[in-house]
Amino acid sequence: MLLFPVYAPAMRPKFYPSLVNDRFGDPALYIDFLQERRAILFDLGDIHTLSPRQILRLSDVFVSHTHIDHFIGFDRLLRVLVGRDKDVRLYGPAGFIDRVEAKLAAYTWDLVERFQTELVFTVTEVCTGLDTHKARFRFSRRFAREDQTGGRAENGVLLTEPALAVTCAELEHHSTCLGFALQESTHVNVWKNRIQEQGLTTGPWLATLKAAIHQGRPDDTPIAVERADGTLDELSLGFLREEIVSIEPGQKVAYVTDAVFTPANETAIVALARDADILFIDAAFAKADADLAAHHGHLTTAQAGSLARRAGAARVEPFHFSPRYEDCEARMIAEVDEAFSFD
Ligand SMILES: [Zn+2]
Repeated sequence: MLLFPVYAPAMRPKFYPSLVNDRFGDPALYIDFLQERRAILFDLGDIHTLSPRQILRLSDVFVSHTHIDHFIGFDRLLRVLVGRDKDVRLYGPAGFIDRVEAKLAAYTWDLVERFQTELVFTVTEVCTGLDTHKARFRFSRRFAREDQTGGRAENGVLLTEPALAVTCAELEHHSTCLGFALQESTHVNVWKNRIQEQGLTTGPWLATLKAAIHQGRPDDTPIAVERADGTLDELSLGFLREEIVSIEPGQKVAYVTDAVFTPANETAIVALARDADILFIDAAFAKADADLAAHHGHLTTAQAGSLARRAGAARVEPFHFSPRYEDCEARMIAEVDEAFSFD
């Protein structure tokens, strides 16, 4: 795998993104979470190089569109997970539920009663205008489709948890394609020396404090604290935030693929990747081959680099290079970097 350590000064990053294949291979970005035995995946191209252990960590898989190079890895995912207790959420564009259903219907599931385990896929598809449809597929039911109540991906938000959110943007390819961004919530760093200076001691109350900060609770919210002498007390959230923690913006990883260079896509990509620590972006064609890129619904190296610069991304990593450039990978990367650092 191509591993990209995301630097984040003064703190240990939470997300460790890596391209599963090289820059010419099928798209799939594996994002490992620090100390959580959890990972998510952006796109599901060929993933045979992922170990079962890495696949078992996946909680959420986001698929940009179902062209074969972005979805063929579903079979490997299924193969590793069948016979295990596991819930996986899948997300994709309009028509995605039908595609997952068709994949699951391709196999014979007559022996499911012999298993005590349950594998559940919960599938969300994002339709034009960000309305969502949802369906569930359970192993014990031979993966028969169970439609569920849909909703809306308000502001593009597909997944939201106290510590992170994943948003999508609708992009024009041949059909609709989704771009994704993983945003960590604000980092709350607790300073042990300042806890001591306040006569306090560490304990479970720190988790309560962090949660209250993440939730944006008002300053006068009382927080139960433990004093060093073992007594309990209450202090205000505002006081504790000022005195014992520092707050830094969380990490952001953005992912854009199979988007043609149109004004609508430019706007959507720049907004999605705004201030990302790292942007993984399709740069299928060389700078000189803009006509080919437009014809095939992809970006050029120069377009990818300039979008990353306009988004204010700290770093850009191009991928999905066309095999026609197999002998000039370094030149492709240099073209991206040139446009990225242009001013
Ligand atoms: Zn593609």
